[in-house]
Amino acid sequence: MDWKKLSTEKITEVYYSVFLNQCYLCNTKCKNTVCQACLEGLPLNVIHCHRCKRPTHHTNMLCGSCQTTSPTYQRCIAPYRFEGIIKTLIHSIKFHQGTHYIRPLTYLLSEHLIESYAAESWPDQILYVPSHPSRIKERGFCQTNTMSNQLAKNLKRHLGEKCPTIPKHNPLKKVKNTQAQHSLSRKERLTSPQSSYEINAPISKHVALFDDVMTTGSTIENCTTLLLKAGAERVDVWVIARTPDKAH
Ligand SMILES: [Zn+2]
Ligand SMILES: [Zn+2]
Repeated sequence: MDWKKLSTEKITEVYYSVFLNQCYLCNTKCKNTVCQACLEGLPLNVIHCHRCKRPTHHTNMLCGSCQTTSPTYQRCIAPYRFEGIIKTLIHSIKFHQGTHYIRPLTYLLSEHLIESYAAESWPDQILYVPSHPSRIKERGFCQTNTMSNQLAKNLKRHLGEKCPTIPKHNPLKKVKNTQAQHSLSRKERLTSPQSSYEINAPISKHVALFDDVMTTGSTIENCTTLLLKAGAERVDVWVIARTPDKAH
């Protein structure tokens, strides 16, 4: 091939097809996993309670729930509201085998994490909120397991040796098969039994707890309390999306 005879456009086209990625959401060519146009259409969680990241009407305020009882975790990272395209993608992963959406979603979370921890020390370990074994059997996989592994891969690319480790076996286990959270009312969720999880292996002092979505926060609270009892000194919560209250 005589490269001198090729037009600049042709060279650019070849370069793009060889070296640049496609957007995982709309398939257009772009440098990153998600293109700028898709990024702009995502429901960013901008106005929220500064403690638990619950979407609110006023920024930098404590929500009613945090005014009554402060959460036991140290900080919460929840870059999106659980609505619109984010809700569609997460539902697709959970209920329609849409595992190809794990990559863009964990990419988006890792970008937010890198920004959030720029001036702070990273956790030592990434754990995840697991599904009950019977649900994993039914679905064929545990989505929070697959997602947290992909998230760790993304972070490792940026952080190298500083990257939090992911234990071979998640020390947090779901031992009680409670009804799916989305089919319960808020009152039922808040009063559902606290002993659905247990910890069966040693954990680090500073732990990141990953879940795909945080709804009322009761599951996260239960797991955080267990982790603190089991020897963690600090728990940071990492979720892709936070559910807005029904009234909003
Ligand atoms: Zn796109
Ligand atoms: Zn709050």
